[in-house]
Amino acid sequence: MSLPALHVVRPKTVDEAVRVLAQHGPQAMILAGGTDLLPNLQMRLYAPQVLVALKEISGLRGARAAKDGALRIGALTTLSELLAEPVVRQKYAVLAKAAATVAGPLQRNMATLGGNLCLETRCRWYNQSHFWRQSLGGCLKKDGTVCHVAPGGKRCWAVWSGDTAPALLALDAEIEIAGPAGERRIPLESLYRNDGMNRIALQAGEILTAVLLPAAKAGWRGVYNKLRLRNSIDYPLAGVAVAMDVDGGGVCRDVRVAISAVNPAPLLVHQAGETLIGKKYSRELIERVAHAAIQRGKPLTTSGSTPVYRREMLELYTRRGLEEVWGGRTHSADRND
Ligand code: SF4
Repeated sequence: MSLPALHVVRPKTVDEAVRVLAQHGPQAMILAGGTDLLPNLQMRLYAPQVLVALKEISGLRGARAAKDGALRIGALTTLSELLAEPVVRQKYAVLAKAAATVAGPLQRNMATLGGNLCLETRCRWYNQSHFWRQSLGGCLKKDGTVCHVAPGGKRCWAVWSGDTAPALLALDAEIEIAGPAGERRIPLESLYRNDGMNRIALQAGEILTAVLLPAAKAGWRGVYNKLRLRNSIDYPLAGVAVAMDVDGGGVCRDVRVAISAVNPAPLLVHQAGETLIGKKYSRELIERVAHAAIQRGKPLTTSGSTPVYRREMLELYTRRGLEEVWGGRTHSADRND
């Protein structure tokens, strides 16, 4: 499948990129690493006339301390560059572990953190060639009137299939956005709409420019567990990020658990904090949070794996993640689930 004919603009500054986006409106799309966008263009999932390639904008790469002590990571930082940052590996373990599971090394050399946070949602009825989709008359999300996952409904359940977003939710990260109305800073959680068709809350002409990791979360224990068909490369079919602050006596001072690839957005499991903060390790409390995670996750028939199996893995990974950060139990990455 070839790419459609496109005009590529390469702005040198964020302001110029915002101006180009405003000038072309819905005809323009942002190109960061391209690992998600380019295959989707080949499948004719979108038909932009202009790509605004951000690669030549300086200042959007690398990590540095912000004024408030947060770690500010430029949105164009590739996942390989992110993994090479000692401060990320040493202080924000859950993010390093999640980023290391994204696709394979070649993709991580191209894919950017900002791009990974703005991925298109995925569904087996949508991520197909134009010819394949046409034979079914399309679906609600693209060129059709019916959702093949939930016929009769008017909602798209295509899933959020990213790995860094749940890790960053577990770290209570914020993001910086530049746009025609200036700059704004919002919690990452506010970016996601939990709607397969209208997935993120970026306004027309806006660009995600940076991710901010709060200083208060530095040094938290963290782990990310992910279900995928091929361990070497695939998107998640279920993912659980766990980050916990534990005192010297083993008491949970704070905890955040986020799930991915089972809803149209990455979501926090709020019951984790309500259940575990102020408590010592307890298998029974962990079971309660694992149960809360499967109440929060709603896997449907959007992928080749069954909803029942993904739900079971969601429960297992929540339990396993909490055991690892709190109970000190580790599990081999090679084990069969
Ligand atoms: Fe299409 Fe339904 Fe899949 Fe959304 S969930 S992409 S509407 S089939």
